[in-house]
Amino acid sequence: MEKTLSIIKPDGVSRGLIGEVIRRFEKNDIRVIAMKMVWMTKKQAKGFYAVHEKRPFFESLTDFMSSGPAVVMVLEADNAISKNRELMGATNFEEAEEGTIRRDFATDIEKNVVHGSDSPETAAFEISYFFNAFEIAG
Ligand code: ATP
Ligand code: MG
Repeated sequence: MEKTLSIIKPDGVSRGLIGEVIRRFEKNDIRVIAMKMVWMTKKQAKGFYAVHEKRPFFESLTDFMSSGPAVVMVLEADNAISKNRELMGATNFEEAEEGTIRRDFATDIEKNVVHGSDSPETAAFEISYFFNAFEIAG
């Protein structure tokens, strides 16, 4: 079983999409094995998205990610990383497949409702960024 980090971003939380996103995970045999709500500081958001430090959207992205509460979760499934990214859809919702979370709910390339780790290495870093071993069930 593989683990991945999922975030329901501040736009998803403020728009009341927490239940809908989790329903999609559970319907697709992805288990939530850790979960909490966090309101990141700008500094915490910058640390989380440090890989994008040099990108032109870094300031705006980290402002957005620290603009309100987000829900962070550890998901577990066979191929959890790719399975979660399939359910999320492409970064740009206009290019995302029909029926994906971003296609159905995103309003903007930045405000795209969910985050998902993109490799085993980033999953390990991102899970440990928010959770310690005692907070993860299973
Ligand atoms: P995430 O890492 O959030 O799961 P992703 O892996 O699909 O998304 P990344 O390339 O890692 O996409 O970009 C991280 C986030 O930065 C995107 O989800 C989006 O919120 C924002 N972003 C990416 N590209 C742009 C862009 N061109 N303009 C504005 N924001 C962007
Ligand atoms: Mg990414």
